[in-house]
Amino acid sequence: MHVIGTAGHVDHGKSTLVKALTGIDPDRLEEEKARQMTIDLGFAWLTLPSGEEVGIVDVPGHIDFIKNMLAGVGGIDAVLLVIAADEGVMPQTREHLAIIDLLGVQRGLVIITKIDLVDEEWLSLVQEDVHTILADTPLANAPLIPCSAHTGQGLDRVRRALADLLAAIPPRPDKGRPRLSVDRVFTLAGFGTVVTGTLLDGTLAVGDEVEILPAGLQGRIRGLQTHKRRRERALPGTRVAVNISGVDKQRIRRGDVLTHPGVYRSTLLMDVQLQTVSGLSHPLRHNDLLHLFIGAAEIPIRLRLIGTEELRAGEVGWAQMALSRPAVAVRDDRFILRRPSPSETVGGGRVLNPFPGRKHRRFRPEVLTAFERLASDKPDRILEHYIITLGPAPLSDITRQSALGRQERETALNRLQAEGRVVLVDLGEDGRGEKEPPPSADVWAFSRESWERTLARLRSLLESYHADHPLRLVMPRQEVRSRLQGRKSWPGRLFNAIVDAGVARGWLVEEKDGLRLRTHSAHFSPEQQAQVDALLARFRARPYMPPGYAEVVDTVGPHVAEALVERGILVRVSDSVVFWRQTYEEMLARVQDVLTKEGEITVARARDLFGSSRKYVLAFLEYLDAQHITRRVGDTRVLRAVQERKRR
Ligand code: GDP
Repeated sequence: MHVIGTAGHVDHGKSTLVKALTGIDPDRLEEEKARQMTIDLGFAWLTLPSGEEVGIVDVPGHIDFIKNMLAGVGGIDAVLLVIAADEGVMPQTREHLAIIDLLGVQRGLVIITKIDLVDEEWLSLVQEDVHTILADTPLANAPLIPCSAHTGQGLDRVRRALADLLAAIPPRPDKGRPRLSVDRVFTLAGFGTVVTGTLLDGTLAVGDEVEILPAGLQGRIRGLQTHKRRRERALPGTRVAVNISGVDKQRIRRGDVLTHPGVYRSTLLMDVQLQTVSGLSHPLRHNDLLHLFIGAAEIPIRLRLIGTEELRAGEVGWAQMALSRPAVAVRDDRFILRRPSPSETVGGGRVLNPFPGRKHRRFRPEVLTAFERLASDKPDRILEHYIITLGPAPLSDITRQSALGRQERETALNRLQAEGRVVLVDLGEDGRGEKEPPPSADVWAFSRESWERTLARLRSLLESYHADHPLRLVMPRQEVRSRLQGRKSWPGRLFNAIVDAGVARGWLVEEKDGLRLRTHSAHFSPEQQAQVDALLARFRARPYMPPGYAEVVDTVGPHVAEALVERGILVRVSDSVVFWRQTYEEMLARVQDVLTKEGEITVARARDLFGSSRKYVLAFLEYLDAQHITRRVGDTRVLRAVQERKRR
């Protein structure tokens, strides 16, 4: 089902046309409400020959027009621009056309009505005029149909054109996130509170829990009506009257948004792409106070121009709007801005980011780049932007804010991952570390930059901790976590995943009681020092066949063992063989001596030299090879030439 709206100068015959087409007098709906015949108010509908029902929003006043066009943002599928043949194009005709343009309404019919009042010649003059003003607007190629609501002439053509127009429009997407911008609220005896509006992005059903934003009022749907008929379910894109229990009428105002609890939240600041109307009387300036029309809400705002001091007629620019009251908005929602005095429509545009988080510094290149990224309409850039500005955060929250369709979102995510522009961390049961989708609340998204920044911060946290506490081997895990996340509350598993990444990269060591940098080792306690002294005595007692590394670990523990090697007190020449530093230096000197005198040395010769066993000597010589001191030639070793050594 589709919804269309009427547009055109006052008294040009919009309501009369709607009545002629539908048999419903929009002006009489109020009367019906008074007689409590229906809770389905404020619009008429028409059944096309195909059987399809079309809702028609028709409102008397000029401001009401703007509001209703917006209430249908994404909700109005097409517009009926009505021009009276006797008066022709009038100021509001132009203004409405400009608004249709700003709102991105792409489809419509242009109806020249009251043709019973004019002759052929006059009609063709008016038609020419109309063609002229339609040029360069979305309605440039719209069918132009003359008719008379009084004589009925041309009405069949209008109906046929409407059917053709609507047949070409795909059904509304169901994103599973219903929202209805409230354009009317009233009470009916025996029913209670009723709100009406155009339902977008999801379905509502009788019995659903609902929330009314921004106040956060909670209630339940008692009944639904579309086109005077009771329904169990209302579909996206339809005009709906919702009977709610549990919410007092007094607390709901026009422009509030009815939704399922927890799905949307309101905002006071939004990033937008703004276009001014071509007939703008004087430029828009930074800090101008204007009225924002979004959904069915009208809200005073302060305009912040981001990349320019002013916007002249017909210009496009980036802006932030600081709202005086919270509103619910979704990326790509359309809006209109009006100047309160002199009263005029100054421009409109679309929401790029309803949660920019903070006021942007003006004229900053990185801020302007971010706006471009959002306005690009490239799903991967849009998603990346949200990950940059909202992340690290659950992917499901981010994708929701991005308002991208499922398919778009998945393609975008795959691309970002493939190009390494995001890091997804799966916190699911067995998931630790950088992982693949699917998007769920358990998957957290980081921009590449913030991931690297987080790891770098972890590293420098540990660096300064080690510097402050040279005797402590580790920084307690909890302390690291709270310092790293600051005031944010990260799930514990997210922290684990960050730690895992540091460990995988080799610079972080996870100990039982905490974390340390691989390069950090603690000073010894007196007991440890005593153990070390005893151990070194054994090394001195049997210098060439000393205790193996495993034995060292058994004696002093792995940390001290590691520290002894790190500090060069012991030289670990192989996995298992270690020598005391002094012994190692002495052995090296003696081997070098043999090499200079005899030119080469074999394992057996070295073994005899030190009265050691093959195991120790082999490990020692292989170590010298690895250090590029010696080179193995067949069964013997020779000194590396000095030049050869220098080259390395
Ligand atoms: P709206 O303000 O655009 O909704 O205009 P209305 O529908 O209220 O019509 C304004 C006046 O124009 C009313 O007096 C109508 O009777 C008259 N009118 C509307 N359509 C026609 C038409 O096709 N022919 C003639 N002669 N008068 C019309």
